[in-house]
Amino acid sequence: MLQFNSEYYQLVSDIKKCQTCVQFLPNLPNPIVSFSPESKIIIIGQAPGKKVHENNTPFNDKSGDNLRDWLGIDKDTFYNTSAFGIMPMGFCFPGTNDKGGDLPPRPECAPQWHRHILEQIGKAELILLVGQYAQKYYLGDLAKNNLTETVKSYKEYLPVYFPLVHPSPLNFRWQAKNKWFSEEVIPELQKRVKSIIK
Ligand code: SF4
Repeated sequence: MLQFNSEYYQLVSDIKKCQTCVQFLPNLPNPIVSFSPESKIIIIGQAPGKKVHENNTPFNDKSGDNLRDWLGIDKDTFYNTSAFGIMPMGFCFPGTNDKGGDLPPRPECAPQWHRHILEQIGKAELILLVGQYAQKYYLGDLAKNNLTETVKSYKEYLPVYFPLVHPSPLNFRWQAKNKWFSEEVIPELQKRVKSIIK
């Protein structure tokens, strides 16, 4: 078993005990985050849904299955923290709106924790920005007017960032309408992932 520095274990422990936005959450905080100092590709998604909140494993749902297909990898590789770090914009399930959709990630989370996690991950070679919240936060003014245009312009953000649409099955209409995503973006994504995770 790999041993890491004490700061890494302290950071993981501090995150697990976080209560920063407890008053806004529908449940007690249950931060879902997975990384190690060895992680080479960082996935920055939105926030865990209810199912992930209950099963404690990031992307252990249909969205995760889609994302693994896009990346061209199996579950063992996806959950190997020497390969992938998973750090959503909000680590805890934020609850749902009155239409049953998930609320946005809590805005307190990324400013509080991301910098500390990225400091621990010294060797990150690629950061996947999955969805509009991660893209707005990390690309700032470089993001385009909408998510579709940002994803379509993915080459502008390489080799550091790779913007993606959220892999939710609810986005199947978006994918059907934007064929360039499966025809061009996914093959380029798989090529880069394969070259990093040799
Ligand atoms: S969402 Fe983030 S900031 Fe809020 S309680 Fe969970 S870990 Fe802490």
